Amino acid sequence: MNPKISDPSTSKTVAIISLGCPKNTVDSEVMLGKLAQDHYSLVKDPSQAEVVIVNTCGFIEASKKESIETILEVARLRKNGRLKSLVVGGCLAHRYGEELRRELPEIDILFGLNDVENVAGQIVNPKPDSVKPPLLPNSLSEATYVYDASSPRLLSTPAHFAYVKISEGCDLPCTFCIIPKIRGHYRSRSMEDIEREARHLASRGIKEICLVAQDSTWYGADRYGKPKIAELMNRLAKVEGLEWIRLHYLYPSRVSDELLEVMAANPMICPYFDVPLQHASNRILKSMQRIGDRALLERMIQRIRAKIPQASIRSTFIVGFPGETDADFQELLDFLKQSQLDYVGFFAYSQEENTPAGVMENQVPEGTKKIRLAEACRVQEEVAEKSHQRWVGETLRVVVEEVDDAEPYDGAVAGSGPKARHNPGPHLDLRVPGQAQGRTRYQAPEVDGVVLIEGHRNPRVGQWIDVEITHALQQDLVGRVVPSKA
Ligand code: SF4
Repeated sequence: MNPKISDPSTSKTVAIISLGCPKNTVDSEVMLGKLAQDHYSLVKDPSQAEVVIVNTCGFIEASKKESIETILEVARLRKNGRLKSLVVGGCLAHRYGEELRRELPEIDILFGLNDVENVAGQIVNPKPDSVKPPLLPNSLSEATYVYDASSPRLLSTPAHFAYVKISEGCDLPCTFCIIPKIRGHYRSRSMEDIEREARHLASRGIKEICLVAQDSTWYGADRYGKPKIAELMNRLAKVEGLEWIRLHYLYPSRVSDELLEVMAANPMICPYFDVPLQHASNRILKSMQRIGDRALLERMIQRIRAKIPQASIRSTFIVGFPGETDADFQELLDFLKQSQLDYVGFFAYSQEENTPAGVMENQVPEGTKKIRLAEACRVQEEVAEKSHQRWVGETLRVVVEEVDDAEPYDGAVAGSGPKARHNPGPHLDLRVPGQAQGRTRYQAPEVDGVVLIEGHRNPRVGQWIDVEITHALQQDLVGRVVPSKA
């Protein structure tokens, strides 16, 4: 059956390092699927691989730096003699292909976003170019590729959840953002295709699907003439076998009443809103060319909470945008205190070439950005700790995601203060062995807080349990297992 397996040229060992956002994770999984289909042997540890693919991120300074450091780190593996080929793709490669060819001779093969499904075929016999790494044909032309349900895909997430990319690209004019120039125009997959993939994933035991795009609320407008996200959610809520459907990357001015209706009516749809707001000062929102002002953002939050009172809201904000004054920043802090958002990510503005904001005057000094970033985080931690108190005493459905194999957690919680979970004081080690942790439908994977579960004698990853919440911290909740009614 598998003569091909013995073909030495294809049974190379390959590892993929996937950087950046879940949309890149999906691309990496398609690459893994293609490589498996072509009978490469896949390894997790890059130091054990003959071929290492780095699927890069390239949208802000910090992620570009991380991508280049990762490429150089992998290149150093050549020393142990196992690494034969260093292959680089993703957003950094698509954005800076020519520069990378010139400046990083360590790279053997470069490919852009249109070659996600072609890279496997190129690893075997790259077209030699004596001096510079070959660039796959049409790799850097405008990104037009988006996978579909027939694309081979090997999931890299835990067995109970998977990301589903519903569209690619973006046509919005946010002045700080380079993504439209990297990922291309907005292009939606068909509803039938997405539903087919969701059914396939559910049939393989996936219980939670996280829908991702650059802007999920615009889904379908390019293909059906108007946004169809509400209709898509309604269809997916009928897919048997799923427990949770989570929607990410909503654009604030496009959160429609129709979508809120569908989300409120379908218990399978998580009451979870991931809505990047970016700022709250009207002056800065205008300069960012964001649709809507502070009043619109406030109304959106009110509409969500009126329809779904327990809704969990995640957002991201940029501090230090060109021209941001102390007064603008103070307005952002006031908005945070007023809005009581559950989970928030903050970015210091990154001056990006080829973006309108990149050439704006009044660039904010890096020192000021750092101070504002720390202050915004501090304010939000206090806000989050207060807003999470609403879960204390509630019994919530939790999926177990991590189990430490030692003494069960004894439930002692003392003291408070920022980052308790991440760098605890000597007496406050909440991440003790034997502890299980999981997520509720109000917490997204990989970005939000978790539930620290006490008293679970035999936790297993992927298990669904009922947990009574006993404590709420800035990021995390603490709770104990209650016998499930089911
Ligand atoms: S909506 Fe998001 S991806 Fe699109 S331009 Fe704005 S920030 Fe960039």
